[in-house]
Order: sequence, then structure tokens, then C-alpha cells
Amino acid sequence: MSMRIGYGFDSHAFKPGVPLIIGGLPIEHTEGLAGHSDGDVLLHAITDALLGAVSAGDIGTFFPPSDPRWKGAASHIFLQTALEEVATAGFKIVNVDTVLVLAKPKIVPIAGELRERVAELLGVKPGEVGIKAKTPEGLNQDHVAVAHATVLLESVRLTDAPVQMVATADVDDEINEVVKGLVGEGSRDVSALGRKRPAFDTDDLT
Ligand code: MG
Repeated sequence: MSMRIGYGFDSHAFKPGVPLIIGGLPIEHTEGLAGHSDGDVLLHAITDALLGAVSAGDIGTFFPPSDPRWKGAASHIFLQTALEEVATAGFKIVNVDTVLVLAKPKIVPIAGELRERVAELLGVKPGEVGIKAKTPEGLNQDHVAVAHATVLLESVRLTDAPVQMVATADVDDEINEVVKGLVGEGSRDVSALGRKRPAFDTDDLT
């Protein structure tokens, strides 16, 4: 059994005249978040955490803000792609933990609903998702929403492997080899799904 950890960060400025969507949940508020997509800062951070955990680049790798197809896009599309990368690399989510940093609106009253929505989008149980919110005390960032996300993944046992005929150590070796081929050495330029990935920072504005 091997495990991977991933971390993601994102920030978006508040902007009048657009709906506020955080964690895939429409939230009643006077302003929304500016962005090329729907500006869902939380889903972007989780997407980056998932991609990072399987060394598959970042959100800008797959959805560059220069591409008009992603203008106003719902961010669960980005999340879905990251989930595909995780599955293809042979992993599944153990748990996800997040921190939102924003002055308004208050997240506490909707934290339960938010947690359920994020869990639904991730295909995990609500008990496997942490949603925490802080106000940006002393940061002078009252007009910005920030999100941090951490994910833990564990390798998935190959379902077609004849487990009863092979010693556990051998199966683990086999899985490790498959995973190494998918996410590790020898495939620096492409993700597990064969998508091209850049070396680093993609100037993400999604
Ligand atoms: Mg973003």
C-alpha cells in the first residue's frame, strides 16, 4: 500500500455582478469571485492538490486561461479531470482537508452543506472532507478569497490481480511498478492520462 499527499492553493478577488460559487455551491452574497472560469477558489485548490499528489501538473496545465473554452466554466469540470488523473494513476482519496480564508460571507452557517457538496463532487463521504474557514486577520486581504487544500491518497489494489495466487509482497511490487510507470520516473512530460504537462508555474488565472 503506497500513499501520496497533495497540496493546493488558490486565490480570487471578489467582484460585483457575478454569482458567488464556492465548493460547487452557489452562495447568497453581494459579490462573486473574478476569474476566467466561475472563480471557485475552493475547487481550484482541491484540483491542484489532487493533481499534485499524482505529479500531474496543475489546473493551468489542463485548462489554460488563454483557452476560451474555459471562459465561465463550472469548476467541477476541472475537479473531474483531476479525479480521472488520480484514478488512472492507481490511487483513491483517503481524505481531503481545506481552509478557506475570507472576510465575508461567513462560512460557518453553510459549512455542513458545503462539506456535503464537496464530498459529492469528489465521490467520497462527507466525513472524509474537512472544511474550515478563517477571516484574514492582519493580512489586509478583505476583498480576496483564498483556499488551501490537502489531500491524502492511497493506492488501489489492482482488481484483476489474482491475489489468492500471489504473495502480498509480489502484488505490492507489481502495483508499485505500475504506479511508477504512471506517475513516477520515465514520464516527466505527460500525466498519467498522457496529457502534456509543463515543468512548473503556469500563471494560473482560472
Ligand atoms: Mg483559480
